[in-house]
Amino acid sequence: MSRTTKVADVTVALDHWIGGERVGSASTFDDVSPVDGRVIARIARGGPGEADAAVAAARAAFPEWAAKPPAERAALLHRVADLVEQRLEQLAIVETVDNGALLRSHLRSVMPRVAHNFRFFADYLVNDLHHPNFETRGHRNHVSWDPSGVAVLITPWNAPLMLATWKVAPALAAGCSVVLKPAEWSPLTASMLADITAEAGMPAGVFNVVQGLGEEVGPALTSNPDVARISFTGSVQTARLIAASAAANLTPCSFELGGKSPFIAFADADLDAAVANAVEQYDNAGQVCLATTRLLVEESVHDEFVARFVDRTNALRQGDPRHAATDIGPQITDEHLRRIEGFVQRATVDGAKVVIGGGRNSELGGLFYRPTLITDVAPGSEILTEEVFGPVLTLQTFADEDEAVAMANGTDFGLAAVLFTGDPQRARRVSAQLVAGTVWVNCFFVRDLRAPFGGSRHSGVGREGGTWSFDFYCDVKNTCTNVDRWTR
Ligand code: NAD
Repeated sequence: MSRTTKVADVTVALDHWIGGERVGSASTFDDVSPVDGRVIARIARGGPGEADAAVAAARAAFPEWAAKPPAERAALLHRVADLVEQRLEQLAIVETVDNGALLRSHLRSVMPRVAHNFRFFADYLVNDLHHPNFETRGHRNHVSWDPSGVAVLITPWNAPLMLATWKVAPALAAGCSVVLKPAEWSPLTASMLADITAEAGMPAGVFNVVQGLGEEVGPALTSNPDVARISFTGSVQTARLIAASAAANLTPCSFELGGKSPFIAFADADLDAAVANAVEQYDNAGQVCLATTRLLVEESVHDEFVARFVDRTNALRQGDPRHAATDIGPQITDEHLRRIEGFVQRATVDGAKVVIGGGRNSELGGLFYRPTLITDVAPGSEILTEEVFGPVLTLQTFADEDEAVAMANGTDFGLAAVLFTGDPQRARRVSAQLVAGTVWVNCFFVRDLRAPFGGSRHSGVGREGGTWSFDFYCDVKNTCTNVDRWTR
């Protein structure tokens, strides 16, 4: 009998999903809700045995899935999207209780996006993927996108289902079979997705979920010679371990990692719009890889920018993420919150000034850290170079464009950048010099799935989105035929 529990009145399976069946483990781990600190589920604690079984199941299911006509694979992915839409409210509330992100966002944008991810890659497979033929001196070249095999997908906790489906949808569309390993801090919606794929009619073994702690189950997945692709979103430290583990088999890896991204506001910008977007960097309690957490503001508008920023931030409502009026929820775990506290404490010891926030929200208790703005930071200090992954922004000033670009590019990361200016020429000049996978000009967080997404330097390897995701899961092949032979 497979184990289940009720989370916010929704039944969620607690075991792995391997080969079309629920499979338990000898032990479990506690899944704790950041909303109130309660243990909400005891999840199967996978290890090498479960990892091997999941890869074997995916390997066995691969040939049939890969051989399915694209239209059939696409129809199945649309059915998955239909079911996600039907269960949107259940997925949204379970995700909120599991990872503490706002229910409002899950309902309005995140879960619709999950469905969209499946629809987008289903349509891409059928409508956009062309197999070109071209001829040179009697030789015809035919390019095909062959599914590569078993894809291992390892995902983080900050946007669990949406980030998982950025990988799951293109991998399945491409004809790969999948083993998904969700983060141990937010394992529930991946388990619900397994039920959805089964209900949609996905053949057993095409989609598998292995639960467990990263260090216990991860290495067996990433070192398995039957794995054709590894796609990982998470921290730089874990990416290094995965790269080392995958090296033995030269398994291709795609990495979406952390950031320390800049937000540049020039004096000629619409200051209100710039400030509103700067305050958005606190979304998801700052637990967003793309957050542009280093505010770089032109000297002449510094005072005005800070005054408006403080006003707007003070108007944010912190509290229970299930309430529609809440703007900022809790951090994911107490350990993570203490890490954030450490960053801010060390910065102040080094002489930095806390303009607002700077500690836990004692009125709320629990895992709430106040949205924080730090100024007077010594150049090169830790708070300017390391990812905090919490609601903590720094603010520095610059004198001119050159200085802004130098400061913006002055970290080991290169994930994103935001640029506010009223001058289109300057926008072009500056954005061309920024080292970042995405530059947003006078906007933030707009994401068209056809566009590439990812980071340079330590922010990642490869890109996701549209053709970049799809290609990663394929072995692209050119078949060159001497057609003259047929005609002689
Ligand atoms: P993490 O690296 O701690 O964990 C991510 C996943 O890796 C989890 O599923 C975990 O279980 C697994 N894992 C841990 N050790 C492993 C091992 N040895 N082998 C295989 N898998 C292992 O990251 P996190 O704390 O969950 O996520 C936060 C980080 O993710 C931040 O750095 C953030 O910037 C980054 N992130 C990046 C993006 C992006 O698209 N660039 C998006 C979201 C989050």
